[in-house]
Amino acid sequence: MPEDWCPFCPGSGRVPDVYDVYLYPNDFRAFSFGNRPFSPETGLFHRTGARGACDVVLYSPNHRLLPSQLSAEQWGKVIDLWIRRTAELSANPDVQYVSIFENTGVAIGVTMPHPHGQIYAFPFVPPLVQQELDSAAAHYREESECLYCRILAGEIEDGRRLVASSNNFVAFLPFFGRFPSEMQICPRRHVDAMTGLNAVELQDLALMLKIVRQKYDNLYGFPMPLMMLLRDRPAKGEHPYFHFHVDLLPIQRSPTKLKYLASVESGNGTFLNDTRAEEQAALLREIEPKSR
Ligand SMILES: [Zn+2]
Ligand SMILES: [Zn+2]
Repeated sequence: MPEDWCPFCPGSGRVPDVYDVYLYPNDFRAFSFGNRPFSPETGLFHRTGARGACDVVLYSPNHRLLPSQLSAEQWGKVIDLWIRRTAELSANPDVQYVSIFENTGVAIGVTMPHPHGQIYAFPFVPPLVQQELDSAAAHYREESECLYCRILAGEIEDGRRLVASSNNFVAFLPFFGRFPSEMQICPRRHVDAMTGLNAVELQDLALMLKIVRQKYDNLYGFPMPLMMLLRDRPAKGEHPYFHFHVDLLPIQRSPTKLKYLASVESGNGTFLNDTRAEEQAALLREIEPKSR
């Protein structure tokens, strides 16, 4: 990144001179609709075809604003753009999964300070999403209920892992969190995709994003390096067992230590979490800003 120039800033010639939120085509994209279509291959080595899309979502024209400093109103505009683009990409016959995510913080490897997130349109369902879908589908088959609704009801009743709640959303640290202070934001109503949320719920989601992002920054007194992923059902097919939610994966395990994915995590798929969800949730619950 050149120090004195940012392609995402108004005046760069790469974006409109005036914008609020903006969808920018990724300059270093992994997927493109110009690539050959995905077709299952036989043999030992499989390729995906890399046909899809990679977008950058600019959250604000203000270069110095952190995502965690966005107002609820601005998050609302970002959400509107997410929804518009998700509907557009999902309608493409080559797209199987639309993943909306954000990487924030130098510790995560983000070189671009301008507030932004990304959207990947995959020509296949990514493996971790598939694993989650399989678990949710199995539970739905065996228990005739949504796994997420069940977990959410349990968390609300228990209360120890709750961080914030509103009329339509609950934020909690899941019992099964892999990352320190890993959080899930879940709509109270069963809905399989963000596009299924109504206007009031979307407004509530914007407010909840603002609240939890500020809480994270206030936890250690500096911006929390994290990954944020919006979990939607796949673009194609019926998935009544799936429940839309947002996952937040911070990598700061103490004020001075980062969580690295070393041999135990990367090599074995087992996560050592140094924090207790109940204790971290209590800290985050008490920290400003409080939810209603
Ligand atoms: Zn900029
Ligand atoms: Zn549900």
